[in-house]
Formats: sequence, structure tokens, C-alpha cells
Amino acid sequence: MGKTNGVYGKKELYDVIVIGGGPAGSTTAALVAEYGHRVLVLEREKFPRFQIGESLMPGTYWSFKRLGVLDKLKKSAFTRKYSVQFFSGSGKGSAPFYFYKHDPHESSVTWQVLRSEFDQMMMDNAREKGAEVRQGASVLQVIFDGDRAIGVRVKYRNGRVNDLSARVVVDATGRSALLSRKLNLKTVEPELKKASIFTHFKGGYRDEGIDEGATLILHTKEKDSWFWSIPLSDDVVSVGVVGGLDYLFREREGTPQEIFETELEKCARMKERLVGAEQLFPVKVTQDFSYRSRAVAGLGWVLIGDAYGFLDPVYSSGVFLALKSGEMAADAIHEAFDKDDFSGAQLGGWGSEFIAGMEAIRKLVYAFYTKDFSFAQFLKVHPECVDGIVDILSGKVYINDVTPIFKPMGEMCSLPEDVDYYETMEV
Ligand SMILES: Cc1cc2nc3c(=O)[nH]c(=O)nc-3n(C[C@H](O)[C@H](O)[C@H](O)COP(=O)(O)OP(=O)(O)OC[C@H]3O[C@@H](n4cnc5c(N)ncnc54)[C@H](O)[C@@H]3O)c2cc1C
Repeated sequence: MGKTNGVYGKKELYDVIVIGGGPAGSTTAALVAEYGHRVLVLEREKFPRFQIGESLMPGTYWSFKRLGVLDKLKKSAFTRKYSVQFFSGSGKGSAPFYFYKHDPHESSVTWQVLRSEFDQMMMDNAREKGAEVRQGASVLQVIFDGDRAIGVRVKYRNGRVNDLSARVVVDATGRSALLSRKLNLKTVEPELKKASIFTHFKGGYRDEGIDEGATLILHTKEKDSWFWSIPLSDDVVSVGVVGGLDYLFREREGTPQEIFETELEKCARMKERLVGAEQLFPVKVTQDFSYRSRAVAGLGWVLIGDAYGFLDPVYSSGVFLALKSGEMAADAIHEAFDKDDFSGAQLGGWGSEFIAGMEAIRKLVYAFYTKDFSFAQFLKVHPECVDGIVDILSGKVYINDVTPIFKPMGEMCSLPEDVDYYETMEV
């Protein structure tokens, strides 16, 4: 157990308060509770709630295994994902990247999930492991004593406002990025200034056999934007378009629905799959989602998942990185209680390893957005790089060294420099 159980003043005292019950928050909460600490999750919404980000990377398997949810996933109705396939602006398809062909292990087949159900499952798991979860509990601010985070101010649905204390505050608020905004740590990635318009359809064309669950990434004619097609269960498919923020919204008129349809006209391969399909809800819009914090942790606080940063939707890496950072932070928090050291260096000691993996995915994101770069051409010249690319697409960036592909790739497109954003906020 943590060393600080009890009550001080009239405040409730927790070892760890996790703000946000998405996949990142539920992961840290489950693992820290399993270590025996007193954990509270505060979630603004009432689950189940809609969330975008339905396609998982195979690399999530190892987090699911540790969290003990693999059996639930195997028994679920979620669609199995064996591969990802890319289509050029002219509609030409790459060979599908079948993950299991590179690693014939059950971890190479993953899931396309309905996030409302998936996030509920993850939150239930945290509760089963001993975390207390309060929904309809919106954190207004993290409370600091000097530079040290000492708790949170929370507002419940009934209007009651309460201060709660904790030795460690974990920000898992997703794109709200509560702490990094407040502490002015948020940095945006100007080259990846994108927006997305998305919805679900029922019906439409589905491939057969193991290709039924494939993620498809389809460029529009001039490569100004691209569509994802993520087949979910019940004959539902998640479809979204991603493009430059200026391109999609600032340089033309029209409602988001009209813009979505205009882009669909430029993507024959996507359009033909939706013939006869019924759109299930009005399109949703999100923008400016490529950002990062300059630190992962400080005195008494730590950032995980999207609350730390988000790259880009193209390789479906968001949930994978949310789970990974959630795991790494949980171990660092447990160690912090052991050592009685709640410094940024201790709570964020995992930062550089985590960021190195994220950097590899980021480089591949840049290659994808380079208009005259083609993965097919690159692999024709450098067939030895296929394993490295599949490793990144699978989320094996923390298992295998994928960096050798970037030298030859950098000769065919411009890749970003490695940025070590990690710095501790220790005082
Ligand atoms: C267009 C688009 C497409 C994407 N597609 C994919 C994909 O296919 N695959 C993939 O893996 N990822 C995808 N992602 C990324 C994915 O959505 C995120 O990476 C993932 O949800 C991060 O999990 P998280 O737990 O960090 O945050 P979230 O899932 O956002 O959870 C954060 C939680 O915190 C709660 N919260 C926020 N503020 C407060 C507060 N003040 N108090 C209390 N609670 C609060 C929210 O209600 C929410 O439930 C996509 C992202 C975008 C933008």
C-alpha cells in the first residue's frame, strides 16, 4: 500500500488521482491499483460515450495481456484486424501488410473496436482491479502547492465542487490536455496541421475472409486528403477524411457534411464501397490534433496518452501509445511510492524511451504526407526495409530496432529530425 493512506483536513486523500477514464487513464489506474495503491479515476462523461480511434495496432496485445483483458477481447464481437492496405490517388492498392506474415504469433491479429464498448471494458477492468471510478466528475483544475501537484478540484454533475488530495495526479484527459495547456507546455507540430471529418455507415461493401477487417487508407485524387475505412461489427464501417486544416476548412465554403461528400467524390475506391450504405449520424469534426507536451512529468504529476501528445491518425497508433504510456507511468508511480520520490525525474523516467518509439512512428507519418513519396517505390528499391515498416505499422517500436530504415528512406523523402522533447520539471 502507499504510505499516505488516510484523511487530512476534510479532503479525501488518495495515493493517485487519474483524470480521465479513456484507455490511458484506465490502464494506469488498473495497474497502480493492482500494485496496491489507493486510486481514484475522475471521468467527466457518463460511459458509454462516443470516441474516435477505433483501429488498434497489434502491439496493444502486450498491454492487454498485462491488464488481463485478452480473454474478454477474444470473446468480444469486435472485428478482427489482420492487415492494413494503402491505396494511391489513382486508386491502385498496395499489397496488404499482413502482420502475422512477419510474425506468426497470435499478437499479430488485433481488433477494430467500437470505442464506447472498448473504453467501458477498460474502465470496468480498472474498477475490478480496485480503482474507484467516479463518472460525471469534471476536473476543473489541478491544485498546486508551489510547483508540486497536490490534488484536484472536481465538479460533479449535481454542481457540487470538491477538492481532493493525492500524492500523484495523472493527467489522462486526452485531447483536452488539461495540464500541458495550463502549464504552457503544449507544442503543436506545424507540418501536421490537419483536420478530420468522420462518421459511421451501415452496409456498403466488405471484403471477405481475413480481409474483411482490414484498415484501408485511401488517398484522394491529388493526395490532398485521405480516407480511412475501419470495418466494425454489425456491418458498420467507420469512415473519415483527413486533410490539411486550410485545405479542408479555410480555403472553401460548405458545411462539414458537404466537404466530406466533395472529398468522397475525389476518392472513387472509397465511394464505391459506400454505395447503398446508410450514414448513421451527422459527421463530426476534429482539428489541430498533432501536438506534444515539452515534458511528461513534474513534481507530483504525470501526463499519459493524448494528454501528453498525439501524432496523427494515419497509422492508428493513438490507443497503442495511450496504453504504453499508461503502463510505463504506472510502473514509475509504483516505484515513486517505494522510494518516496515524487519528482518529475522519477515520475517521468520512462519519457525518453517512450518518445523514441513515438519518433519512429512520427517519421513514417512524415513519409506518408510527402506527396511524391511512395512506399511501394521505396520498397522496390529497398526490399530489406519491409520488416522495419511492418514493425512500425504493428507497434513493435519498443521491441525491435526500426531505425535502420530511416537512412535509406531519408534519401527519398524529407524526414524530421529526432526531437527529444523530454525534460523534467523538477524543482
Ligand atoms: C481523427 C482521429 C482518428 C483517430 N483514429 C485512431 C485509430 O484508428 N486508432 C487509434 O488507436 N487511435 C486513433 N486516434 C487517436 C485516439 O482517439 C486517441 O489516441 C486515444 O483515444 C487516446 O486515449 P486517451 O485515454 O489518452 O484519451 P481519450 O480517449 O480522449 O480519453 C480521455 C478521457 O478524459 C476525459 N476528460 C477530459 N477532460 C476531463 C476533465 N477535465 N475531467 C475529467 N475527465 C476528463 C474525457 O471525457 C475522456 O473520456 C484518432 C484520433 C483522431 C483525432
